[in-house]
Amino acid sequence: MIHPEDRSLRERIFARDEYRCVYCGLPFPGEQLSLDHVQPRMRGGDNSEGNLVTACHACNTRKGSLPAWAFLAELPDERANFLRYATAVWPRHIRAIREAVKV
Ligand SMILES: [Zn+2]
Repeated sequence: MIHPEDRSLRERIFARDEYRCVYCGLPFPGEQLSLDHVQPRMRGGDNSEGNLVTACHACNTRKGSLPAWAFLAELPDERANFLRYATAVWPRHIRAIREAVKV
């Protein structure tokens, strides 16, 4: 888990993603954003910047403990947003998302 005091990592990821939720595609002030693990911690994901994206609280709650590919498989709008905005995540995450819907 990311320590609440580690503002530098949060701010770095938010800035990289231009304070935009990669799932709904909307910009938010920093206090309404959270760090999302593309591959959840409980499924072996880590705190590498290639595994972290910016997400609003609503999207992060909806995603829950699913990996991004599973969450996005039935959500074409959110999937399109992710592929457009989450350009800094590891390529294997992008491949998994594309393979889950055969696009
Ligand atoms: Zn969102």
